[in-house]
Amino acid sequence: MTAAIASSARALGVEIRTNAAVDKVIVRGGRATGAALANGDELTARVVMSAADPKRSFLQFVDQQHFPDEFVQAIRDFRVRGSSGKVNIALSGLPDFTCLPGEGPLHRGAISISPSIEYVERAYDDAKYGNFSRQPYMDIIIPSMIDRDMAPPGHHVMSCFVQYAPYDVEGGWDDAKKEAFGETVISTIEKYAPNIRQVIVGKQVITPQDIERIAGITGGNIFHGELLLHQLFFMRPAPQWADFRTPLPGYYFGAAGAHPGGGVMGAAGRMAATEILKDWQ
Ligand SMILES: Cc1cc2nc3c(=O)[nH]c(=O)nc-3n(C[C@H](O)[C@H](O)[C@H](O)COP(=O)(O)OP(=O)(O)OC[C@H]3O[C@@H](n4cnc5c(N)ncnc54)[C@H](O)[C@@H]3O)c2cc1C
Repeated sequence: MTAAIASSARALGVEIRTNAAVDKVIVRGGRATGAALANGDELTARVVMSAADPKRSFLQFVDQQHFPDEFVQAIRDFRVRGSSGKVNIALSGLPDFTCLPGEGPLHRGAISISPSIEYVERAYDDAKYGNFSRQPYMDIIIPSMIDRDMAPPGHHVMSCFVQYAPYDVEGGWDDAKKEAFGETVISTIEKYAPNIRQVIVGKQVITPQDIERIAGITGGNIFHGELLLHQLFFMRPAPQWADFRTPLPGYYFGAAGAHPGGGVMGAAGRMAATEILKDWQ
């Protein structure tokens, strides 16, 4: 999907640079006029829009003197604690779920391990006290069932989205803790698909700290910021600044940390673009 968006953009004359970390937004005469890259390049622009998380966009890219104090404080207070992990598993065959034995539509759909509200509550209790859930709540998909190119014939990749795994786990995330987290996920799946261990050929365990490092998201929260009531709608990312404009003229914000939040939908970016076009004249 991203490749399709990129090729449409290129066809319209857009230049896309990857591996081009932004160091600072350039501010001249009280407005954003471009971006300085970490490699020393400077790009000038009539409009600058950040799609990085709110902490980077407002506390790192721009010197705070360009924002009102209350805005800076609101961004500092914006909560970005990651609470979920990913365990990606390579399989030599399909997991056989006892509830629906054999290959079936469930393997092409979304599989949820969340047997009761109490189960989910207990899973969260562990995280509240700094641990990963001993009996985690999981959303599982097997994308190779849809896109056969993702694995060799007969093999599969299984993506397990796991809650909860705190960013600041008690004692810190090290290899042993990550291994224990992965093992907890597999033994939980095993209760529902007893053949799972026989078909595992590899696994990758990703914690919120890994998400921060790999995806460039401060705090490793998959939505660039927690979806708390006081961080939604007209308060995302900050009260009075939820219309994709920022206190710095020429600088816009159109990422998951803006309304309507995260998800693979591009809604914040589209709405930001709409507002930018309104201001363009
Ligand atoms: C592990 C994981 C699993 C997810 N699962 C799902 C799911 O199943 N369904 C769903 O709907 N959503 C899911 N999401 C959420 C979804 O991916 C995000 O909400 C969405 O990608 C947000 O899009 P965005 O453009 O706002 O930000 P991003 O896609 O995060 O893009 C921001 C970009 O800014 C870049 N960046 C950061 N710092 C700099 C810098 N200094 N210079 C230049 N670039 C920088 C980052 O590298 C990144 O490419 C998941 C996210 C993660 C991390």
